[in-house]
Amino acid sequence: MDHKNAPGFRVIDCMLHAHDATLLLLACLVCAIGIYASFAVGRHAARASGKVRIHWGIVNIVASGCTAWATHFIVLLAFQPHMPAAFEPVLTAVSLACAIVGIGAGVTVSIAGPRRSRQFVAGLIIGTGVAALHYIGQSAYLVQGTVSWDLALVLSSIAVSLPLFGVAMLAIASRDRRIRQFAAPLMLFAIALLHFCGMAAMTLQYDPNVAFPSDAVLPRTVTPVVAGVSLALIMLAVLGWRFDLAAKARIRQDRRRLRDLADVALEGLLITQSNVIVTSNSSIERLSGFAQDDLAGRDVSALLPHIDLAGLPEKEERETNLVGATGQSIPVRVLRSEVPLGHKLQTVIAVRDQRERLRTEAKMRALAFNDSLTGLPNRASFYELLTLQTALPADADKPFAVIMVDLDRFKQVNDTFGHPTGDNVLVQIAARLRALVNGENVVARLGGDEFAVMQHGAHAEAACALCVRIVEACNSETFVVDGQAIHLGASVGFALYPEDGGVPAELLRNADLALYAAKADGKGTYRRYESLLNDKNQERQALEAGLRRALADGQLDVHYQPLVDAKTGRMASAEALVRWRHPERGLISPAEFIEIAEETGLIVPLGNWVLRTACLEAATWPAHIGVAVNLSPVQFRDKALASNVGSALQEAGLAPQRLELEITEGVLLMDEARTLHTLSHLRAMHVRISMDDFGTGYSSLSYIRKFPFDKLKIDRSFVRNIPHDAESVAIVRAIITMSACLGLSTTMEGVETAEQFGFAVSEGCSAIQGYFVSRPVPAAQLRAVLVSDASGASMEGDSVGRSRIDDRCDERQTAH
Ligand code: C2E
Ligand code: CA
Ligand code: CA
Repeated sequence: MDHKNAPGFRVIDCMLHAHDATLLLLACLVCAIGIYASFAVGRHAARASGKVRIHWGIVNIVASGCTAWATHFIVLLAFQPHMPAAFEPVLTAVSLACAIVGIGAGVTVSIAGPRRSRQFVAGLIIGTGVAALHYIGQSAYLVQGTVSWDLALVLSSIAVSLPLFGVAMLAIASRDRRIRQFAAPLMLFAIALLHFCGMAAMTLQYDPNVAFPSDAVLPRTVTPVVAGVSLALIMLAVLGWRFDLAAKARIRQDRRRLRDLADVALEGLLITQSNVIVTSNSSIERLSGFAQDDLAGRDVSALLPHIDLAGLPEKEERETNLVGATGQSIPVRVLRSEVPLGHKLQTVIAVRDQRERLRTEAKMRALAFNDSLTGLPNRASFYELLTLQTALPADADKPFAVIMVDLDRFKQVNDTFGHPTGDNVLVQIAARLRALVNGENVVARLGGDEFAVMQHGAHAEAACALCVRIVEACNSETFVVDGQAIHLGASVGFALYPEDGGVPAELLRNADLALYAAKADGKGTYRRYESLLNDKNQERQALEAGLRRALADGQLDVHYQPLVDAKTGRMASAEALVRWRHPERGLISPAEFIEIAEETGLIVPLGNWVLRTACLEAATWPAHIGVAVNLSPVQFRDKALASNVGSALQEAGLAPQRLELEITEGVLLMDEARTLHTLSHLRAMHVRISMDDFGTGYSSLSYIRKFPFDKLKIDRSFVRNIPHDAESVAIVRAIITMSACLGLSTTMEGVETAEQFGFAVSEGCSAIQGYFVSRPVPAAQLRAVLVSDASGASMEGDSVGRSRIDDRCDERQTAH
């Protein structure tokens, strides 16, 4: 066979020599424009929805069909058969229909699902349509002569081009942009293959006897139609181009808006498409160290290599590490969500920096243990914990409770059993508190016997419930140390964040006020902070300030309450009791201000003043009448106490034997050696010491043996129930008997009735004090009585049991 007759040669020869080159170029141009127009309109359809989508989808299919048809016809027109040619109109129209239907069917199959096999089949269908267009279109091409076909070439052109269409459709559906670019050239190549093979497969033989059918259309008639279709395609391309431009502008605008919005966010945000970063916000720039522009186009795995973001369920946070610009690893939490942007779903990845949180957590852990005795956080740590808790932005509105716990009677335990025992008790308390609160809640030891609890997420009820358990744990259960059972108790106060305070200092202060209120309520109970407590606190502060002025301005006064000798019924001494004549509030009881004075230390100058005043006053009384002055434990801490007593006596010229100092057990609870030393010093000065309010304190019996007392004053809480309450009667009897054995004298305080007076006398009390004998009276009034009775007033109760002094010195007339 002549090589010129080989099919390959014939096709190339046909392409190079049998066609008008200018028209071929035009065909290419129309084809390219048509393909672009189809794609652009197709993209527009894909972006749209509903009717608009269908509408533009049809336009896309018709445009594609027309492109194939117009290209084909321009190439046919370019063909130079060197003999007259014409077109058969019906077949020409059928060929156009074939193209449109084939492409339409292919596209329909293609968009019905993303599977590759489906895309390939869609390509085959489109290819069949285009092949039909070619060969039917070619059979509509008439020449003045005979046409013979090389069927093998026809079939092989179809066999090769159909798979090419399939591959082109696969390329279109690809996610990879680079592969997608091959789609159009592939299609063009397949179309060209069909055409040129078809032309080469056709052998024309001129035959002047052949006549065209009557309805044949001449090329010059077809040309304007083809030109018209081409023009329409060009216009469509322009339209599609504008659609594309508008869509791009919209996406740009959406992205800009999203980015503006994202920049406001504290979290890092990455917007990705198929795992490629499209845009990011400024937080991510700060976090990663990459410039925003650098990030665009990178794969997300470059930033977040350890996590499969595509597999991450939407709206579920995951911890991972972000790799920054310098290669550093940053702990982050990521969250993926799909957000529609333009016509596409975009993946937004929120990246939250965890460094601050982890640092805070580490700090919290470190702070959580630093009291060497109990292993609990100390005051400074607790304060810092509260600071962190109230400052964490994410937790800012999470409620929590600050609970303050103060042990009742701990001081006595410490002083009675010694510090090692006290420490042991504290360790036990710490363990109990820790057992009561769960995991993330914090127990701290603020110092001494003061503990605090931070209860997370607590509302008033939860906090109350915990307080009850704390009080119970400390109150009802006995502590055993070295085989000794110790009864303690706790008072508890709490404040809630954020209602009762927004900053640590406020929370601690308010919880403290609540604790203070709980103690005032009688200990062993709990209270929540309320603004009323603050008012009370302010009242206290006002009182404190007033008391300072009172001392300077001479608003204080001393009243005296006589004590009578039980045997003789004569007045033996008088107890000095301080009074405050408040300019607005009138007479204020010492019960109301002594405690404040003790807490503020004002008791020292105040007590000194009372001491000096009482000594000066007593010096004006008959020599056998003594004076009793109350000493606060706080005054006992003052090293100058003994010397102050000495100078008061000296100043007044009072014999030390006439002065009696009343101390409570509180004094004895302090540093034993020093207290003992001070007491011995006072005794050595011949001042007498009496134990006041006996029976109310702790472990009294052990003390009265150790310390050098002269007298016990039986507290009026026992006396009150005499003689009806058998228990009180028994206790008072026991005290009197015991002190007689120890060689101490006894005073019964708070005697209000004749029966009580009679009881005191018959039980062998040494002295009696109480409203029944006399109320405390102003100095002048007592002096007047003493002067009028200069001979030595008999104070013994008459038949009714009323003392004569009380008849004469009625405090109510003067004091109130
Ligand atoms: P206290 O030392 O136990 O003083 C006796 C208190 O009992 C006085 O109250 C007195 O008025 C009251 N009283 C006396 N007889 C009766 C009675 O028959 N029935 C009742 N119900 N009460 C009676 P006052 O003067 O209000 O003093 C209260 C406390 O204030 C005193 O208790 C004492 O602890 C303290 N205090 C008073 N003056 C001073 C002082 O100058 N220095 C110190 N450190 N404390 C003082
Ligand atoms: Ca007293
Ligand atoms: Ca008393």
